[in-house]
Amino acid sequence: MRDPRYDILFEPVRLGPVTAKNRFYQVPHCSGMGWHRPRTLAAFRGMKAEGGWGVVCTEYCSVHPTSDDGGLPFASLWDDEDIAAHALMTDAVHEHGSLAGVELWHGGAVANLDSRLPAMGVRSRASRNGLMAPPVQTRRLEKADIRDILDLQARAARRAVQAGFDIVYVYATHGYLLSEFLNPEVNDRGDEYGGSVENRVRIVRELIDITREATRGKCAVATRLTVDRSIPESFEAFEILAELPDLWDLTIGDYDVEMGSSRFVGEGALVEDVARARGLTSKPVVAVGRFTSPDTMARVIRNGTQDLIGAARPSIADPFLPKKIEEGRVEDVRECIGCNICYAHDSLGVPIRCTQNPTTGEEWRRGWHPERIERERGLGRVLVIGGGPAGLEAARVLGERGAQVMLAEAKRELGGRVSRESRLPGLAEWRRVRDWRVAQLARLDNVEVFPESPMSAADVLEVEAEHVIVATGARWTTDAVGRHRDAPIEAASGARVLSVDHVLDGGEIPSGRVLIYDDDHYYLGPALALELRRRGLEVVLLTPAGRAGQWSAFTSEQESACAALIESDVEIVTNRVLEGVEAGRARSTCVFSGRESTIAADWVLPLTLRATNDGLYFELLAREEAGRLKSVLRVGDCEAPGLIASAVYSGHRVARGMRETGEAPADEVRRERALG
Ligand code: ADP
Ligand code: SF4
Repeated sequence: MRDPRYDILFEPVRLGPVTAKNRFYQVPHCSGMGWHRPRTLAAFRGMKAEGGWGVVCTEYCSVHPTSDDGGLPFASLWDDEDIAAHALMTDAVHEHGSLAGVELWHGGAVANLDSRLPAMGVRSRASRNGLMAPPVQTRRLEKADIRDILDLQARAARRAVQAGFDIVYVYATHGYLLSEFLNPEVNDRGDEYGGSVENRVRIVRELIDITREATRGKCAVATRLTVDRSIPESFEAFEILAELPDLWDLTIGDYDVEMGSSRFVGEGALVEDVARARGLTSKPVVAVGRFTSPDTMARVIRNGTQDLIGAARPSIADPFLPKKIEEGRVEDVRECIGCNICYAHDSLGVPIRCTQNPTTGEEWRRGWHPERIERERGLGRVLVIGGGPAGLEAARVLGERGAQVMLAEAKRELGGRVSRESRLPGLAEWRRVRDWRVAQLARLDNVEVFPESPMSAADVLEVEAEHVIVATGARWTTDAVGRHRDAPIEAASGARVLSVDHVLDGGEIPSGRVLIYDDDHYYLGPALALELRRRGLEVVLLTPAGRAGQWSAFTSEQESACAALIESDVEIVTNRVLEGVEAGRARSTCVFSGRESTIAADWVLPLTLRATNDGLYFELLAREEAGRLKSVLRVGDCEAPGLIASAVYSGHRVARGMRETGEAPADEVRRERALG
């Protein structure tokens, strides 16, 4: 049963006219589903309600075509035809006794890539569409436009009531339209909406009033706002508005901290700013902080920092987090690792996914439940080879399905790449991918784990198994073939080229200057550079991209990564392709002009592609004796090297689809068509 220390988390909280059944509050967060995929979205949000979240909100919801988010899937309440899609979500949430919230949104300087209408801003500003910002500006809002904005909010709020929402937001942060009004650097208006703080908060106040009027006491009116000690005026603005909404959803000024990756930001990063604001209002306060520890959650409630535990990522990694705490199963909580792969995929315009929870986004499409996996009688004995993220997940799922599972891992330590990479600076939390699975396996009597068991094809055939899953991973190549080159580099005699695996395995580089050639563009290049600096080596990171760790812009960590490299004196050389290595130097060409130059390097570490460790898989397929096996399958990096999230997903998908007969797993993917 539940630990009484956590009782406080299960107290109901009154939010104006409605009551949340507990303090677990899934704040509005993007999902990459939006109005395009209403059933996918409803199932995704409904799962969180089933998992015990007392409040479940949908994502940013545009009030009108004068504010769309182009290539990104946003929700909308533009007209009455949008209501049915939202009702799917509110029904799914209400089914479990939770409240449903909607964050009404006007994007301000977000260019309307879809509707092609001019975006409107407090003044004419450059577009702010993140990575996709085109060179266009907003139209300055006239007084009549401000009246229209109020009217659009009222109309959308009335539709929100019809759709069944219990909480309706005024969204006054994250750089969107209302933030423009609040920001004295942006708001240059000479009318009653500009100048003093009182004037600049006027539109927020009016929107709160109009939302309250439109929802006629049926919904709580929430306001999402920035409070930040580095912006003292934000508390002045907060004080003026403090008693107006029914609920405050508070955040801070720096989005890279608010949803910071665990490489740079820990649990509860907002608490000091939030606590200060909480002292200025009698209304309940919710705030995020990637809370996964119930001790921290209970503490921030008890010490008065906030009233509700806000969460986006922890609710994605484990929709059943509240239920598990309630049932006294804290050790079963699948803790978020703070990798931001979820966020990256929304920014790529596709439904989010999660490294820890492979069922995220698949609740409707594949009918996957994160906690219930159908058992299959007669699966018999399954041998899983390789204990990396793919093999661990496959073994876990097969264990849940009732198979007799043997997991053989060559090394003493389980975890594969997760164990090796999580030793790099900032990546320690990623071990949760391994640790959660190892702990779950330990609870399954029908799973046996054999470390230090490198398997050959002969060994595999000696084991009396019906099915074999090969999850042997991949190894880094050294020829620098990758995204920017298809032919191997020239390595002259005396060239010292090392594999990334050498460093990941803790191998020595005695001394000198190491050049990392980063054609991978994600976290590993910067993380390896910081590791080598920690070992006292001189490091240069050379990349064909315009910035170091280019792809990590999607995970909202590129700026912090570049700052860390600069602070650690790593030399960054951009826009160059590695061509060859000689004793003491490397040759590269400019990606634009092709002009060649050399750079001093005692050691070169190409971070480009991985070669699949699929020898065992193909050998098994070729062996006649393998004919008595019902199936030989491969998963994870051994099939197609990718993200850790891809490996977990692959292990899950193959294990979940495995049939007793050994027939190819059913790969049924429903396609969603928007509701008309
Ligand atoms: P993935 O991301 O696909 O899970 P990893 O590289 O992280 O891949 O993990 C692969 C794991 O497989 C490693 O821990 C490695 O030691 C193990 N392994 C590779 N070959 C064998 C083998 N022949 N027998 C047992 N384990 C193996
Ligand atoms: Fe957390 Fe990573 Fe999952 Fe996002 S993808 S919820 S950051 S584990």
